[in-house]
Amino acid sequence: MQSWPHPDVPLLPGTGIPLRLYDSATHEVRPTEPGPVARMYVCGITPYDATHLGHAATYLAFDLVNRVWRDNGHEVMFVQNVTDVDDPLFERADRDGEDWIVLGMRETALFREDMTALRVIPPAHYVGVVEAVEEIAELVEKLVSIGVAYRLEDGTGDVYQDVAAAARFGYESGYDHSTMLNFFAERGGDPERPGKRNALDPLLWRGAREGEPRWPSPVGPGRPGWHVECAAIAVNRLGMGIDVQGGGSDLVFPHHEMSALHAEAAADQWPFAKHYVHTGMIGLDGEKMSKSRGNLVFVSRLRGDGVDPMAVRLALLSGHYRSDRAWTSAALDEAQERLARWRDATARATGPSAVELLATVRERLADDLDSPGAIRAVDDWVAREGSDPTAPALVHSTLDALLGIAL
Ligand code: ZN
Repeated sequence: MQSWPHPDVPLLPGTGIPLRLYDSATHEVRPTEPGPVARMYVCGITPYDATHLGHAATYLAFDLVNRVWRDNGHEVMFVQNVTDVDDPLFERADRDGEDWIVLGMRETALFREDMTALRVIPPAHYVGVVEAVEEIAELVEKLVSIGVAYRLEDGTGDVYQDVAAAARFGYESGYDHSTMLNFFAERGGDPERPGKRNALDPLLWRGAREGEPRWPSPVGPGRPGWHVECAAIAVNRLGMGIDVQGGGSDLVFPHHEMSALHAEAAADQWPFAKHYVHTGMIGLDGEKMSKSRGNLVFVSRLRGDGVDPMAVRLALLSGHYRSDRAWTSAALDEAQERLARWRDATARATGPSAVELLATVRERLADDLDSPGAIRAVDDWVAREGSDPTAPALVHSTLDALLGIAL
């Protein structure tokens, strides 16, 4: 699938600082230790609605990961999917009397525009399920052939993976059984489905149903489950033991747990990812921003209202990526004012030396992406005066390369 244009990323003098990130599986901030090519998979959107600020905050956090790794001299192989075959998409298309393919393509196009405006570095592979059904079905077939997946005996053709067959099942989230059951029921799972071996067994393949899209496959006609889609798309492009598996905190369970389960069982290798990294939720008026609450703020709507996308980016980065935080018009105003101050300061002929600022921004971002700390350091530089003629340009490049803020 077509990705989006790559923003310019200036090269900075000196060397970066190796990135440490919080890992949900081990509950600690640990160094990332990529090889020459850092490998990252970030779960993409289900394209039935426009990109809201919760999505944007997530993709901006992983864009910082990408930028810090590049500053450390790594090539970054970043892969993202589009869940363009899924129930929420079909339901929305049905409700609006629309073709689900057209709806998915339209919202994916809008997402590309939003990511471009926010200066998010695009994935090397941007892969829709529609174009990956064959490879996903191959993974399902593999899981059946090695005896860890089974077909229900109710004639539906539905295939599930047996979680009891995996010794390490549960390591990614660390949740207890009842927490898993609650989230499984809440987030698309079917713990009550008769005929399953274990309540938590995830769907790998949904047999063909009247009125639903279907594809032929070695495991019968039907369509892929959600978690196995990411397992196949990630492993086939990045291999096992990737450096970061990323997404919003609502993907900790079941989505990332199950994707890891599928990938590890098929490869007979552990782990799927060295870091599982999750971003906090963005709230509005004291509630999580979500379509079920009908309180979404869309990036495209802000753009349409003439809001500078760099102010949106700066407002979202002014909170720490792991914290649940509120979107307020005051935060947006503050970001717009800050952006104006930064623009003024970097347009001057001289400023205070920026060598230390570059070091501080690198140091703050390397420490579990402390973007608020990095922003404070820039504010301090902006508030001072100096006579270094090279400083404004260096600050300009630092903000562009590391924070993705083009002034
Ligand atoms: Zn995913």
